[in-house]
Amino acid sequence: MQQLAEWARQLGFSQIGVAGIDLSTAEPGLQAWLDAGWHGGMAYMAAHGLKRARPAELRPGTLSVITARMDYLPRDAPPDWIDAEWQAQRDPHRAVVSVYARGRDYHKVLRTRLQRLADRLIQEVGPLGHRVFTDSAPVLEVELAARSGLGWRGKHTLALQREGGSMFFLGEIFVDLALPPTPAATAHCGSCSACIDVCPTRAIVAPYRLDARRCISYLTIEHEGPIPIEFRAPMGNRIYGCDDCQLACPWNKYAQRSTLSDFDPRAPLTGATLLQLWAWDEATFLQHTEGSAMRRIGWTRWRRNLAVALGNACREAGETAMQTALQTALQTALETARPAACEMVREHIDWALAQRAA
Ligand code: SF4
Ligand code: SF4
Repeated sequence: MQQLAEWARQLGFSQIGVAGIDLSTAEPGLQAWLDAGWHGGMAYMAAHGLKRARPAELRPGTLSVITARMDYLPRDAPPDWIDAEWQAQRDPHRAVVSVYARGRDYHKVLRTRLQRLADRLIQEVGPLGHRVFTDSAPVLEVELAARSGLGWRGKHTLALQREGGSMFFLGEIFVDLALPPTPAATAHCGSCSACIDVCPTRAIVAPYRLDARRCISYLTIEHEGPIPIEFRAPMGNRIYGCDDCQLACPWNKYAQRSTLSDFDPRAPLTGATLLQLWAWDEATFLQHTEGSAMRRIGWTRWRRNLAVALGNACREAGETAMQTALQTALQTALETARPAACEMVREHIDWALAQRAA
């Protein structure tokens, strides 16, 4: 295990663990979440049903799950990065993208490195049936992480760590090798409810219970249709994901920076204004999101999200000449794009134009 941990560290992982495959005690909670419909339009969640809690059904022959976590805070994140994130949200003209999505697509980074870790293990122990997963619908990642000591499940439902906050990705290697499990993590949320209180859409409906249909991360990334009206204003200037519950979490002052350049923010997607991004055509969107997780949402959802954020910027009253000029620019940009927009985006543009400050 020590050797495996050293290889993992060389590959950029911060910690690894081993979980057993009996997750039966997690099944009632999973079933209740699905029954409540809190997975929203993520039909793939329901499609796998309780298979998600049964690793040996997902990959026959699995005897253990090697769990891994990888910090993703960018290497050059400043010491006051949390304040800087809140500050960015206060600038209505700035486009805010979730921290984890600003660099290279983490699916690719983790999958490649998990496979390399599996290859190293195979060199050591010989042929080994295995399969790697990361952020994959069929796997109860947080449950496996908690059981193997990588972090406890916070009230916001993400895994978090005393030494590393929650700014990390999770990945797993299912192996047909019986490995001794590592000790489970202990929980340290205590009486804190910062993540619940800060959530702009009240998506954390109770401790450890997330209604994905209300969550800005889900709405901006996974949700295909129109953004429900009630969630448009709370979205603010967030165009891809939401970090609020993590930013508010006291443990994230211990969040660790990545050792990899992969998560360095990419210039056109970070620090841009809404108007700069709105000016892109589809070819530019595809070009600038090459290799980024953001490309997965596609052109229509990208425009839909931007239109909502532009509408929220339109609501800001213009007191100075500069602000008035900006308001005019926003309205012109929305009106100019309207004729060529698809029906759904056009409806969001109309909503945005209707937000103009009186
Ligand atoms: S990601 Fe944002 S919207 Fe979703 S639960 Fe956290 S704070 Fe709420
Ligand atoms: S904000 Fe508080 S309650 Fe929420 S995950 Fe962090 S420690 Fe737990």
